Amino acid sequence: MRSASSRTEPGLRLETPAQFLKGVGGRRAELLARLGVGSARDLLYHIPFRYLDATTVTPIGRARSGTVGADVTVVGRVVSTGVIPTRSGLRVFQCVLQDDSGLIECGWPGRPFLQRHISKGALLLASGPLRHFHGKQLQPREWIVLGGEEDEPPSRGMVLPVYRSTEGLTVRQLRGLVEKNLGVLLPLVEEGLPAQWRQAAGVAALPRALQLAHRPASLADAEVGRRRLAFEELVLLQLVLARARWLAKRSRAGIRFEVKRDLTTRLRAHLPFELTSAQKRCLREIVADQTSPVRMHRLLSGDVGSGKTVVALFAMLVAVENDCQAAMMAPTEILAEQHAETLTRLLAPLGLLPELLVGRLSGAEKAAIRERLAAGATPLVVGTHALIQEDVEFKRLGLAVIDEQHRFGVAQRALLAQKNAVEGPDVLLLTATPIPRTLALATYGDLDISRLDELPPGRGRVRTAIRGERSRARVYDFVRAEVAAGRQAYVVYPVIDESEKLDLRAAAKMAVFLAKEIFPGIAVGLVHGRLPAEERDVVMRRFRSNAIRVLVATTVIEVGIDVPNATVMIVEHPERFGLAPLHQLRGRIGRGAAASHCILMPGEGASLERLRRFAATQDGLRIAELDLTERGYGELVGAKQAGPVELRYADFGRDGDLLALAHRLAREAIADDPHLGAPALRPVVAEIGRRFERGLELFRAIPG
Ligand code: ADP
Ligand code: MG
Repeated sequence: MRSASSRTEPGLRLETPAQFLKGVGGRRAELLARLGVGSARDLLYHIPFRYLDATTVTPIGRARSGTVGADVTVVGRVVSTGVIPTRSGLRVFQCVLQDDSGLIECGWPGRPFLQRHISKGALLLASGPLRHFHGKQLQPREWIVLGGEEDEPPSRGMVLPVYRSTEGLTVRQLRGLVEKNLGVLLPLVEEGLPAQWRQAAGVAALPRALQLAHRPASLADAEVGRRRLAFEELVLLQLVLARARWLAKRSRAGIRFEVKRDLTTRLRAHLPFELTSAQKRCLREIVADQTSPVRMHRLLSGDVGSGKTVVALFAMLVAVENDCQAAMMAPTEILAEQHAETLTRLLAPLGLLPELLVGRLSGAEKAAIRERLAAGATPLVVGTHALIQEDVEFKRLGLAVIDEQHRFGVAQRALLAQKNAVEGPDVLLLTATPIPRTLALATYGDLDISRLDELPPGRGRVRTAIRGERSRARVYDFVRAEVAAGRQAYVVYPVIDESEKLDLRAAAKMAVFLAKEIFPGIAVGLVHGRLPAEERDVVMRRFRSNAIRVLVATTVIEVGIDVPNATVMIVEHPERFGLAPLHQLRGRIGRGAAASHCILMPGEGASLERLRRFAATQDGLRIAELDLTERGYGELVGAKQAGPVELRYADFGRDGDLLALAHRLAREAIADDPHLGAPALRPVVAEIGRRFERGLELFRAIPG
């Protein structure tokens, strides 16, 4: 990772701009910059994103007569191309390849756009299974255009690296460029990770890894190279997260609470239900943090309906027992109100009354609450962003709870905790977004995590059905029957982008149509994201109070809303939703004792398979995993607002072991040496500085 002066090429360093590399001029340098390659080092780290195992190429004549199902690799000239439709509506790109021994047809079902990439005359390498499709067809899993009409077939017996390229710079050119420079650059590379870490992970040293990644003799070689870079990437990220956690917990002293068994014991005695064992376990973890002198910085993760609120309430009471205040912040007024109601109900037997601080209160009301908070007359407050306004002061805030934490920015979350300038209050974040364990390490490595992995008993099951247009009348009959029985329903319309006027009109029109034609005499309401917050809240309140019986919603904006009386949800065009958001939607029903029904009404031609998988499970974690395989892991991690995270080499599917190890090593390293000041770790910190925008700042020793 560190540069050293090379004996062979004086003056060349890893920091040397790409422009001065062999075979690169001004124009190529611009193209390379588009790929994120600005220096010699970047070129080395621009490793192939896949490889073609062309170590054994089969003559086309023999491939054609091969067994169906068997994998073959062929190299040939494209003699014709075309796109053909199939009965199922899938379009197939096809081309015919020729070599000295014969002709073979290749087909890519569902990928008609390949027509733009594979043209007549091209020299193509294709690798995949032979299938039956109007005769035998090779259906490539991997393929690469090796050259054009003027090019000769390559020498056989090689693994072909495939680089991410860009318009104006082909894979082939990029491969040549690496070829020219690799020999002089590799001697400049020095190992930067401590040997113990590499040994624990069983990964190769950096120079060897780069060599193998760019020029593997086999696919196994390439994987050895990639794994090393993946480990390095994961361990650097985990160090950043572990450091962030350390700063959050240690940069200010926490408050050491005592469990007085006063309010908490009384709450437990008056609770209308028994806590689930998962709730008890999470609570133990939280209380252990609260009673330690180090600040709590914890995420309580639990599927929709798992009962996070009451767990948070216990933690709030621990703070109150210790003469501190506790605040709970929710992303919307309606959610804050819902929490305030719940708390009011549960705390009534204890003679405690939480305050509600939201934007719609009058100036005088807000001022009065602010006064009580500042004087310490109010121990418990629930609110929205109104809580983090500048003029809000606490006498002594001991615990900040943040519900639906992903709806807040990092800065906003920090603001609440900053309301105690003297001591470091504990922070408890709540999330209903289930997140697979490995991914949690990568995304929330800066937090400690408690998992509520059990739903309270006695919940009505949610049955999920997929229905076509022909059943529409019956579906509406069913909704009418449920409403007649006193229950309520959601009709969800997809508006993926709330600025899409067309979609909004569709939802609004749908609401009018349903009210007039389908459910005459039944109160129908409409909410969507473009409605001003106050209007939205009015509608949601009326739905909660059962004045509105059927709610048409674009996406039910109010994640977390709890209307146990709602037992039916119709989702129009469910195929337009991701599975995880769909699960959040479905979580709005099945919250009472009555059986609930989620009815998916896909549009014409929608792929039903993923919906069937969704319908078959109610396990949020399982769905999160399905969702991930659909969308890919990288995107999900990258989407985390706070995260500088974008994984280039690691893959959560494959590298779970490396991730867990990196997580452990990083936490140990930060515990031993919080600023990573040891000389052996200097190259590691330097690399963090290169990769993370504010990486060096993060590791600057803080005084005190
Ligand atoms: P979420 O985790 O989605 O925020 P809530 O905290 O809103 O869930 O709880 C959902 C519902 O379950 C609430 O009505 C709550 O009172 C109820 N609940 C919570 N814990 C239990 C329990 N242990 N047994 C029965 N009902 C519970
Ligand atoms: Mg909730």
